[in-house]
Amino acid sequence: MRRKLAAGNWKMNGTGDDLAMLKDLAGAHSDPGCEILICPPAPLIHRAATTLQGSAITIGGQDCHPRTTGAHTGDTSAAMLVDAGARYVITGHSERRADHGEQDADVRTKTTTALEAGLQVIVCLGESLAQREAGNTLDVIGAQLSASVPDGVTGKTVVIAYEPIWAIGTGKVPTLAQIGEVHDFIRARLKDRFGAQNGQSFRLLYGGSVKPGNAAEIFAVPNVDGALVGGASLGVADFSPIIAALLGAS
Ligand code: PEP
Repeated sequence: MRRKLAAGNWKMNGTGDDLAMLKDLAGAHSDPGCEILICPPAPLIHRAATTLQGSAITIGGQDCHPRTTGAHTGDTSAAMLVDAGARYVITGHSERRADHGEQDADVRTKTTTALEAGLQVIVCLGESLAQREAGNTLDVIGAQLSASVPDGVTGKTVVIAYEPIWAIGTGKVPTLAQIGEVHDFIRARLKDRFGAQNGQSFRLLYGGSVKPGNAAEIFAVPNVDGALVGGASLGVADFSPIIAALLGAS
């Protein structure tokens, strides 16, 4: 059985005042029956982890540097995330790929570094609208999966998030058939590469404009084990019903 995961990515949103939301979220989901993760901006990680101590909610980072230490002004290492209280990190988010020119090889190195530091890693994959319209979605996802995910990993510590770039923050969502097609494809590729048992154990998240109104139908798609949620993770009013929908799908 794969444990369902509701992961919130706050992106570059939130200051100390917004941490009160976490207390409310923890209060609403004290025994959630699924895993709940919030990835706030790096300066909030320690305070968020402290705020949530003893709760069922885990904290993660949104990125880490591929190297462990050194002269990399402005960057955050995986060990720093762990030290601050993070248990997860996101790698390969399309906004990192677009804003910082991150390539699959960078994502792979970051993922390895993060795993070595003891973090669990959510590796993001996703096609552009042009790639989808050209009929290249599965080729793009297959290539990203091969090149971004290191060899020898397991479903215990690596989660894959399918996030079509054109669906992020746009209110546009693929059809359920399109989501199912990509998730089934990722599952098959993971089994081919890592063996049937291990490949079956990876959790696959869908991300891209998940909202309370569409969460239940998305979570009913086979091989969808949860969601990576951006905008709707910023407030309890939206994130809590998404978590409830995930539980309903369990
Ligand atoms: C994301 O940033 O990973 C994301 C899915 O954003 P949104 O839910 O706002 O589309």
